[in-house]
Amino acid sequence: MSTYDQIAPIANKIIKKYDLCDNCLGRLFSKQLHLSSNKLLGKKLKKNLNSIEKCYVCKNLFDNLNHFLKFMLDASSDYSFTSFSVGAIIKPSIVDRDDFIRSQFKLKGIDSVKTDITKELGKLYSRKTKKTIVHQDPEITFTVNLKDETCQLRSKSITIFGRYIKTKRGFPQKQKSCDNCYGKGCRVCDFHGIVEFDSVEGVISKLIFKKFGGTTAKFTWIGGEDKSSLILGSGRPFFVKIKNPNKRKSKLSEITINSIKLHKMKLVYESPKKSIKFNSTIKVNVSTKSPLESKTLKKLKDLTSFPVIVYEKSGKRTEKKIFEINYKKISKNQFSLKIKAEGGLPIKRFVIGDDITPNISKILQTSCECQEFDFLDVEV
Ligand SMILES: [Zn+2]
Ligand SMILES: [Zn+2]
Repeated sequence: MSTYDQIAPIANKIIKKYDLCDNCLGRLFSKQLHLSSNKLLGKKLKKNLNSIEKCYVCKNLFDNLNHFLKFMLDASSDYSFTSFSVGAIIKPSIVDRDDFIRSQFKLKGIDSVKTDITKELGKLYSRKTKKTIVHQDPEITFTVNLKDETCQLRSKSITIFGRYIKTKRGFPQKQKSCDNCYGKGCRVCDFHGIVEFDSVEGVISKLIFKKFGGTTAKFTWIGGEDKSSLILGSGRPFFVKIKNPNKRKSKLSEITINSIKLHKMKLVYESPKKSIKFNSTIKVNVSTKSPLESKTLKKLKDLTSFPVIVYEKSGKRTEKKIFEINYKKISKNQFSLKIKAEGGLPIKRFVIGDDITPNISKILQTSCECQEFDFLDVEV
């Protein structure tokens, strides 16, 4: 006896007791028969029966899927993407009746009614839009709520790497968060988490929102700087993760906005999970309390022999290597330093001598102050 012949009497028994639509009946046996269309199988199993009034399990939900397809099309009209997946929220009573039938007739290893609904919605959407259904890592995830008749869409974040060069002083690196939501995104800030765009972060965010849409932009900076610092050479690298982007591809050419030049931008898989090691070449202008003698300055050369130890208020202790150090006397109370060091050395504290040993003030045996510091290059 073929599997179909074994199944037919069970199916008959079920439909004698319960009205089921083609989808719900077919679903109970399609896996066993390795068939992909529940609907066709259901139809076949019911060949001798008149059509039913209302499906006991789904209340004819499957006849109504085009209505929900429209919600999906509306929700995604502003997004460009290639792959998607569908989830659904359905009334618990439907799930209960589905479970009841399955346990009553001891049917195992079959799709739930919810799985079937999402599959059908996926097929409909894919047929209409030519987008691909994927189950792992889709670009767009729909959650169709058949209970409330709504559809939510989530767009997978994208991450961009780039470098910025700052040729004018006065731009802070970071942007202050929106006062209303502390950066999470709200109506006041148009869900961006920031309201002003007058920093490096602001300039990059603005450009990115224009190109990709999206809600918030989360930055991972390779090192930090002062508002008054210049960033020269090939610039400081950064990663930025854009949440809920509308577009996933765009041309990223070199551009200069408000003296901030962005270049080497490209889409990357994700922001780095661990902090990235980098080296910075920094030019520092230092003023001293007592007049300087050239032979005292010579002592600064010793800084390359041992790492500098940085103590944080939290009790954390880090070591930073200095690879090269050069100095130039400018006047009797002023000199400039060119340092190549491991990234993350707090320059101002290193000059003053704030919980860092050795430090410039201590070596020169006079109070020193950092007037200004610029980044000549950042290497990763
Ligand atoms: Zn049904
Ligand atoms: Zn806000």
